[in-house]
Amino acid sequence: MTNNGVKKVISSVFHKVASIPDNGKLAAYIPELAKVNPEYFGVYISSVNGFEYGVGDWNQKFSIQSIAKALAVTLAYKALGEQIWQRVGVEPSGTPFNSLVQLESDNGIPRNPFINSGAIVVCDILICNLKNPKKEFLDFVRDIAQNPQLDYCSKIAESEKSVGYLNIGLCNYIKSLGNIKNSPEEVLDFYFNLCSLEMTCRELSHTFLFLANHGSKLFDGKEVLNHSQCKRINALMQTCGFYDESGEFAFKVGLPGKSGVGGGIIAVHPGKYSIAVWSPRLNARGNSYRGVRFLESFTTNTRESIF
Ligand code: GLU
Repeated sequence: MTNNGVKKVISSVFHKVASIPDNGKLAAYIPELAKVNPEYFGVYISSVNGFEYGVGDWNQKFSIQSIAKALAVTLAYKALGEQIWQRVGVEPSGTPFNSLVQLESDNGIPRNPFINSGAIVVCDILICNLKNPKKEFLDFVRDIAQNPQLDYCSKIAESEKSVGYLNIGLCNYIKSLGNIKNSPEEVLDFYFNLCSLEMTCRELSHTFLFLANHGSKLFDGKEVLNHSQCKRINALMQTCGFYDESGEFAFKVGLPGKSGVGGGIIAVHPGKYSIAVWSPRLNARGNSYRGVRFLESFTTNTRESIF
């Protein structure tokens, strides 16, 4: 489809979805996220050919939450190579994002890096492999985004830490099963900071463009992941990126992606584009209500899905 055609589809789908009553709910279990204006709605697309377009609140910062897990596993994969899959699996869990039920039978090896237990293990791996994990992870994100302004939000990290009993339980449980090497306090501090990263839709779309560009940064051509590694991260996003709604997201939207409880979604078309959508109210599975609806109509009307 032409760039003008894509712009027209984005605008018309955006307005159509904005006019549907949004029956999702804010992620109120994190006190700071409960304060966000639920009416925000933004979209931004960037293509590997240099096309860019945004509508709505695309320039407003928001908490990317679990979307950061895709960046954390990328850095851990770079550091550890294929060995990483001995510590965390690559299968969809079919359970909610914060579930601990499979850990016992799986000997503390989380099903995939995108559920909370998996991301907590990835944080542990990064702590083992980096001298200053919080700083080096942030430097990594700033580099792939070509944006030195990106940062954690300490208010959100502290807010989640103050009520993060389930994640604290998950981390301690995995530690007891032998798959956490550092102190749970250190691992959780990193995890809560990771989830507190803030970006606009534009920044998010730019950050993930390397996954649309076969693993290399678009602006300087430097490799973040090789082709095979990039394929694998996209495959994980396709099969595990939306908690227990991953199958339905693939069915409706047909793009690899990752969501977060802040209401953001990043979706990637390998070889073509990355698109970020943000609307804070979540459906029953914890994914942005308007975000999923927008992307479903977007790929249907543009025919720009991977299938
Ligand atoms: N920080 C959130 C939590 O651990 C991330 C959840 C998400 O975005 O899926 O509950």
